[in-house]
Amino acid sequence: MIAILLGAPGVGKGTQAALAAETHGYTHMSTGELLRQEVAEDTELGKSADIFMSRGDLVPDDVMVQMVAEHISNFPSEKVLLLDGFPRTIAQAEALDEACTSGAIGLSLYFTAPETVLTDRLLARGRQDDTHEVIAHRLGVYAKATEPLVKHYADQGLLREIKSDRAVEDIQVDVLSIVSGVLNQSNLA
Ligand code: AMP
Repeated sequence: MIAILLGAPGVGKGTQAALAAETHGYTHMSTGELLRQEVAEDTELGKSADIFMSRGDLVPDDVMVQMVAEHISNFPSEKVLLLDGFPRTIAQAEALDEACTSGAIGLSLYFTAPETVLTDRLLARGRQDDTHEVIAHRLGVYAKATEPLVKHYADQGLLREIKSDRAVEDIQVDVLSIVSGVLNQSNLA
């Protein structure tokens, strides 16, 4: 089962996915992390992705779809894949829908927090693309390109909102209970 983690930069998707993966054996796949590895290894993909990433722009859809398709094609359906940072555009979501067998996407967890909380968290994190200017740009890109996915998954009845301006542990309780609820349902079906 694929669980899509949706939400603005800084909302805590990565932290929640990493925790759930560690304690429950779920697979955490972060496209941002995969791209940062490519950049660190100075691969051809890394070199071209770095130009987009350092500006806070999205890496082109075809590159991302190919990267994710390779990882999900052999993923066992009885296991849980937490997809963190993908899809980020309607085109990516449609490509994912096509690549997945019906029912493979079990849910989308939609993490929400006020924008001031997001900015403060990103500045505290201090990653290379976490400067004031780039953060503002990334939040704008999110609102324009990614926010429409909320409706995409809501229309499919897959969206579950999690308010994320709370303690990490409290959010994690909700994440785990929602994921296990959907897993139980799909096992019964
Ligand atoms: P993240 O670690 O999720 O904040 O991603 C860091 C950066 O990687 C983003 O600002 C984008 O430049 C790029 N990136 C990660 N995932 C995607 C995606 N699905 N589509 C396009 N660009 C992406």
